[in-house]
Order: sequence, then structure tokens, then C-alpha cells
Amino acid sequence: MNLKENLISLKNTFANPSCTLVAVSKTKPKEMLMQAYEAGVRDFGENKVQEMSEKAEQLPSDIRWHMIGHLQRNKVKYIAPFVHLIHSVDSLKLLKEIDKEAKKNNRIIQVLLQVYIAQEESKFGLDESELKALLHAPETAKLDSVKIVGLMGMATYTENEAQIRSEFRSLKSIADALKNETLPSNVSLQELSMGMSGDYLIAQEEGSTMIRVGSAIFGERNYQ
Ligand SMILES: *Cc1c(COP(=O)(O)O)cnc(C)c1O
Repeated sequence: MNLKENLISLKNTFANPSCTLVAVSKTKPKEMLMQAYEAGVRDFGENKVQEMSEKAEQLPSDIRWHMIGHLQRNKVKYIAPFVHLIHSVDSLKLLKEIDKEAKKNNRIIQVLLQVYIAQEESKFGLDESELKALLHAPETAKLDSVKIVGLMGMATYTENEAQIRSEFRSLKSIADALKNETLPSNVSLQELSMGMSGDYLIAQEEGSTMIRVGSAIFGERNYQ
């Protein structure tokens, strides 16, 4: 199967046709990104700052670049001029740095807060109480060059569909509960970024608005 066929069969299986597809192109050469671009993809996800910056320089300017990997504060400046959405914000310190760099670039940067929903060790993200603390911190409301547009979560890497489903459901219910709270004006939790190649269908059934799919489009990745 080629990339275009992968994209068509992916879209054909969507449980929610209005869900945004972020094509996760990490480790893939720009020629493959161009194939996806020519098939209509405009949202690309990368997890490394340098790789994303290089690709952004070389590829069409109407691509929306999504940072989906763990982001170090000292690297925010490299992506601040162009990044469309940062999915992986997990601290107030990082949020403040993004706000500072957004101001330097005269723009407002959209972010998602990454929430820890898996049962695995050592995944990044906030737990529910840290999430609430961040949203209600007086400092958060003052960051007028960032907009918190939703939450991101990753389910446990397992064959157990019931477990995956309940983890996605917990993220959705956290987001729904927060909608009843008074939140600062730079917060508007509309997006739920959840679901990857192996679990995007379950994620869509549980209310995902944005899926991050790599290998089902581009094939398996070859890591070093
Ligand atoms: C790599 C990655 C994906 C895509 O994974 P696939 O299983 O290839 O679809 C999605 N989200 C994050 C955060 C990733 O790092």
C-alpha cells in the first residue's frame, strides 16, 4: 500500500469525520511529507525541535506544525515563530516560556496541556490535581500570548481495549468537568488530542477531536 492509500483507508474508518488528523512524520524524510501534502494533509506532528524546524524551513508555508513531543524550555525559541499547536505542555514554567517567546514573535501560541492518563511509568504529563492547579494559578491568567485550547493524553501501550477506552474516557471526563469551572479567559478547552495508529478509533468513540497518527500513514519507523 502506498501513502495515499493509507490516508484514504484511514479516513474511511474514522468514527468521527470532523476529527482533525495530525500526520506524525517524525523520522520520515521530507519527500514523504510532500507525498502526504500532495494528498491534502496540512497538519504534521513532530517530536523534536531541530527536526521540525528543518522541515518547516524546507516545506510549504501553509503547513500547520504540531509539536507533540516533550519540549525543553530552552528550545521553545526555535519553534515559537511558526509552531501551530504545542500538544505537550506539562508545567507552568514551560507555559511562561512559551508566552515570553510568543510575545517576541508578536503572536499568540496555542497549546494543549498534557495529562497523564496511562498506567505506565515515566510518561510525561500532569495528573488531575496538577492540571487544576495550573489552570487556576493566578499567573496563568496573566499569560496573554498563549491560549490553552484543550488537553492531550496518551493511553497505555497495551492490547487491552477496555483499559485504553477507560483511559481516554477519563481524559474526556476531566475536560467536561473543567468546563463547569470558571477558568481564565486564555483558556478554552475545545480540543482533545488523543489517539494514535493503534487506538485512534477507540479515541474517536470516546470524544477525541484530534488524532496523532504516524505509522498507519508513513509505515513503521526505523529508529537508530
Ligand atoms: C510517535 C507519536 C505518535 C504517533 O504514533 P503512531 O503509533 O506511529 O501513530 C503520536 N503521539 C505521540 C506523542 C508520538 O510521540
